Amino acid sequence: MNNKIPVKLIPALKDYLWGGDRLKKDYGIESDLPIVAEAWVLSCHPDGPSVVANGEYAGLTLPQMIEKAGTDILGTRGKSFEFFPILVKLIDAKGNLSIQVHPSDEYALKNEGQYGKTEMWYVVDCDKDAYLYYGFDHKISREEFKERIENDTLLEVLNRVPVKKGDCFFIESGTIHAIAKGLLIAEIQQNSNLTYRVYDYVRRDKNGNPRELHVEKAMKVTTLDRPQIPYGQPKSDRLAQCKYFTVDRIRLDGEREITVDDESFLSLLCLEGSAEIGGVSLKKGESVFLPASMGKLTLKGHALLISSRV
Ligand code: ZN
Repeated sequence: MNNKIPVKLIPALKDYLWGGDRLKKDYGIESDLPIVAEAWVLSCHPDGPSVVANGEYAGLTLPQMIEKAGTDILGTRGKSFEFFPILVKLIDAKGNLSIQVHPSDEYALKNEGQYGKTEMWYVVDCDKDAYLYYGFDHKISREEFKERIENDTLLEVLNRVPVKKGDCFFIESGTIHAIAKGLLIAEIQQNSNLTYRVYDYVRRDKNGNPRELHVEKAMKVTTLDRPQIPYGQPKSDRLAQCKYFTVDRIRLDGEREITVDDESFLSLLCLEGSAEIGGVSLKKGESVFLPASMGKLTLKGHALLISSRV
């Protein structure tokens, strides 16, 4: 593979019922779907892999490209995982998402045969009165948790957080959470699709059936307390760092040098403005994959970007 050219990616799109049309209208996502709830901008997940837009592998999916080019492009840390480790999404919530929790690796590998999920959210944009749910408001017992799920009063004990643009949340596996309406979010997560739903606002689908809940499993994996990790406006541009991902905010005004070392690939997602790197342009809503060991590159332009790596 010509390791010197950034790989532009076309996202896989999801038209879940709670989504809106802002990703099409405001973020340049092209689609015939009337609703685009999620754009999976960096994805090797079988439910929706991203597709290569440029260079010698144009037209292949990201996992196909990695298979052809070899796993060295993931870097030493990137290829140390059994599966491609991360998934990056843009989410446009016009409606409320269900209250949910994701299991830890320990529980998930033992009981589900796949990895669990830790994720982080960066609030790209939001309505004036937008909020989300992040953990419990205070410590509760397992019995109370169960009772409140059964009698539809769970929301009363959740930590309801009003949000502003630029707020950041680290959602460790086991933390109960939900994105609510009016939020546009960039989500960086472990590459897993394991979600246990505990409450869905007593909604019915188009056939009149409630969505499936996973209360027994959720009871086993949920942390029944207030989250201990700081949240809201980030103290620095290092937004998150854990075993699975390191996420930085780049406020580009002119030029900046970016180094892609041999430990990990790098994903750049443009959220505002426009930029250019290695001869490839990057507009609002677009992303590039930079193979590991690319070395030093110059990022130019006026833009707000999110960089994710392993
Ligand atoms: Zn989640």
